[in-house]
Amino acid sequence: MSYPTCLFCKIVGGTIPATIVHQDDHVIAFEDINPQAPTHVLVIPRTHIASLDTLGDGDHETVGRVLHRAAEIARSRGLMPDGYRVVLNCGPAAGQTVYHIHAHLLGGRGFGWPPG
Ligand code: 5GP
Ligand code: ZN
Repeated sequence: MSYPTCLFCKIVGGTIPATIVHQDDHVIAFEDINPQAPTHVLVIPRTHIASLDTLGDGDHETVGRVLHRAAEIARSRGLMPDGYRVVLNCGPAAGQTVYHIHAHLLGGRGFGWPPG
């Protein structure tokens, strides 16, 4: 499913350009336009899911693929054994601005805890 007004659906459809680092039948990954770390890649499903809050029972495999791809990209960039962070913002209090579910893969520097 694709939402014509959704920014990330437009990236999936190729009508908005992005620096794609991986794509397959299920997920695509691209460089964040405003990187917060030396590695800042967004991993998204091709299908439109607004957020974690709207996940359905049929979406489990899709989300698993998103997280697995984040880990594969992290490995390919040599982010282990130092480590990296994967973030899914859900809703306004968490700072979600694009309502097409996405995992932020952040790496290449240290991260504080608790997060801001
Ligand atoms: P959120 O705040 O929803 O968790 O994350 C949205 C992310 O999308 C932000 O990190 C933001 O920099 C990124 N972003 C917003 N618009 C674009 C765009 O047009 N292209 C790319 N590559 N990233 C974008
Ligand atoms: Zn979308």
